[in-house]
Amino acid sequence: MTQRLSTTTDADREEHLTDGTFRDGLELIAEGVTDMVGFNLACISVVRTAPDGSQDLEVLALGGSDYSAEMVVGRRTPLAGLLGELAKAEDWGRFRFLPHELLDTEDVENAYGWVVPDLVPGEGPNAWHPLDLLVALLHDDHGNLRGSLAIDLPENGLRPDAEQRRLLEKFAVQAERAVVTHLEREELAEQVRLAETARTIVRSASAQDGLSAVLQQCQAGLVEGFRCHGSWIQTFDEDGRGSGAIHTSSSSQVVLPVELIGVATSAAQTCWSEQRTVVIAPGHPVPSVLSDAEQHAVLAFMDDIRITSLLFVPLGAGGECLGNLVLTRTDDRDWTDLDRQAALDIGHDLGRVVLNARTFEREHELVLELRALDSYKSQLIATVSHELKNPLAAVAGYAEVLESAPELAARSRSAVDAIVRGAGRLNRVIDDLLVLSKVEDPHRPLEPVPVDLSRLVADTLELLDVTITQGQVDVVTNTPEGGVLADGDRDELACLVTNLISNAVKYTDLGKVVVTVERHGSVTVLQVSDEGLGISADDQARLFTEFFRSSNPVATSRPGTGLGLAIVKRIVDRHGGTITVDSELGRGSTFTVTLPAAG
Ligand code: ADP
Repeated sequence: MTQRLSTTTDADREEHLTDGTFRDGLELIAEGVTDMVGFNLACISVVRTAPDGSQDLEVLALGGSDYSAEMVVGRRTPLAGLLGELAKAEDWGRFRFLPHELLDTEDVENAYGWVVPDLVPGEGPNAWHPLDLLVALLHDDHGNLRGSLAIDLPENGLRPDAEQRRLLEKFAVQAERAVVTHLEREELAEQVRLAETARTIVRSASAQDGLSAVLQQCQAGLVEGFRCHGSWIQTFDEDGRGSGAIHTSSSSQVVLPVELIGVATSAAQTCWSEQRTVVIAPGHPVPSVLSDAEQHAVLAFMDDIRITSLLFVPLGAGGECLGNLVLTRTDDRDWTDLDRQAALDIGHDLGRVVLNARTFEREHELVLELRALDSYKSQLIATVSHELKNPLAAVAGYAEVLESAPELAARSRSAVDAIVRGAGRLNRVIDDLLVLSKVEDPHRPLEPVPVDLSRLVADTLELLDVTITQGQVDVVTNTPEGGVLADGDRDELACLVTNLISNAVKYTDLGKVVVTVERHGSVTVLQVSDEGLGISADDQARLFTEFFRSSNPVATSRPGTGLGLAIVKRIVDRHGGTITVDSELGRGSTFTVTLPAAG
């Protein structure tokens, strides 16, 4: 009675979850040989081809009791060694028998693929010798060698008789079918895996890098995923026209002949609307998207660049065809249905990538245009303001001279006073406009340094001292000893602090203004609270826009340009900070600014 070997290990069992049925089938056949034909060893192997073209036999299944499966399954031996020995073997139908006396090699283990047991040879003409070799070579339908079934250790110690040979022949047929199916399944799984890899790469391509970069990123994945020679991608412009500019997987440029640009474009449109791919290769039927002449032109072009076949795939999104993908091969492998379906799916993924990249590029261009416009606006404001400054200084100067002339009639004097006031107001507007154009200019990057906000508050209060003492406002400061350092531009932050405190003083008739400076972790906080007029909810919504002045007539009666808070907001934004306002009409306002802390 043959003791059955457990031929599956835990690791094997896991693998069985993926290719289990067929591996199990191979084991059953191997065990059938040992149980039913009366041998203690049956070994089924498959041919593996290395990238350098060399071929090995890898043991996949083992039946019998004398070997542990772990020792043998997965073992690889060069195929050439075995074939060399078998050349001298006797032909037994599907099997070849090599009596030990014809064996040349010293390295039996390498030639046979397993450890030959150290047994004492039997006696008599039919006795089996431990070095006898009995192997069936297993082929696919095309006659390619795909595996082997090797037998050893007869239970009765004899070479197989006619009945055993008949049975062995049957098992060899089964083993051949099982090996070919197993290898086909493996290849299919590998193909699915590679196509999935290609899809993952395409899906993860980021539109932010620009269309060319994105397409470049995808190429290597496509070539690897479809095991092809190259991939070309042509995208259409917004009017659906191909440019002939092709993004290729290799550094060598592919220039599509002019007549083929139109052919590719209309073929892609048709393929996209019919949701299909097209194979073009010599001997292949002419696809319906091409005329005979067009097919001829494409084949001539392929011949020029030594391409043996190509898979033409439309790219698109929704109802729009956005370009085409061409996968090329230089060998005679066919494009399988799986290749074609996976490529069509990738056409959808790539279509989305193209669409995203296009939208991104358009947005990017728009941002650049807006930035240029912004810069132009800042320059215009700056130039106009400068141009106004000199004549205004002349007007103000002469008006002041006139104002002090003793002979001036009362009516004329009030007119001159109005000119002086108007010139003063115009001057303030121009000064504010100049500051605004400076803090808005995208070509003036921020160069931050540590700035002590407490110091800025103290300086501002010194500047406003006269105004404060004239009114009935009590200003209180809460600033920690040792100061609070913000990271920013000193002049701009001084402007921010001055605007907020002067507003609080200006719009408070009677009451307290509290200025607090603190540090919270990585941010500094400046808070200016007053008990003044307050701001209505409607006004708060537009507070930071240029030239906004309150709808409250009491507030409008105070001098102002409506530019102060707009400037403050730009400065805060430039510093990566935040500004909020909390206010109620008639109760007062609190402006809170956060800025990045220094150090
Ligand atoms: P202005 O030069 O008019 O003060 P701002 O841009 O500094 O310009 O302020 C815009 C408007 O916001 C002011 O006209 C005023 O109505 C309102 N405002 C600003 N700060 C305060 C405040 N602390 N209290 C009440 N209203 C304020």
